[in-house]
Parts: sequence; structure tokens; C-alpha cells
Amino acid sequence: MVALKAEYEVGSGVRWHVVPDFDGAALCRRLLSAIAEMRPITDMTRNGIPHEQLCRLCLTAFERGVETAPGREQINAA
Ligand SMILES: [Zn+2]
Repeated sequence: MVALKAEYEVGSGVRWHVVPDFDGAALCRRLLSAIAEMRPITDMTRNGIPHEQLCRLCLTAFERGVETAPGREQINAA
């Protein structure tokens, strides 16, 4: 279950990361607060969230089909 999770940055506002589960770690390996706001992943593709608010690393990983945090398996881009 992939979802979006918010990270609040001083000055630049909110940034949304893709989290593969509710364990707090985003695809970019950033650890996010367990109590951070979450939104369904569909909010990303339906333009619910402005593109500039999405984490580029998470977005790139997600577009490559990665739905789990980087780990043991090597990820091969097509
Ligand atoms: Zn991220």
C-alpha cells in the first residue's frame, strides 16, 4: 500500500514523499514523522497535490515502478 506522506519544511512549506507502507520511511529513504499527514497516492496522479510539492527522488522512484523502500534487491530500470 503506497501513500503520500507530508514533511513540513521551515520556509518552503510542505513536501510530499511516497511511502511504501506506514512504517515512516519514504522511497528516498527519508524518515518521516509517524504522525505526519498522509494522503492517498492517487492525489499525486490526479493533480491533487501541486507537482512542486512532491519529492523528486520519491517521484522518480515511483515512476520507475518502485513501491518498496530500496533494500536488498537491485532495481533495474527498463
Ligand atoms: Zn522523498
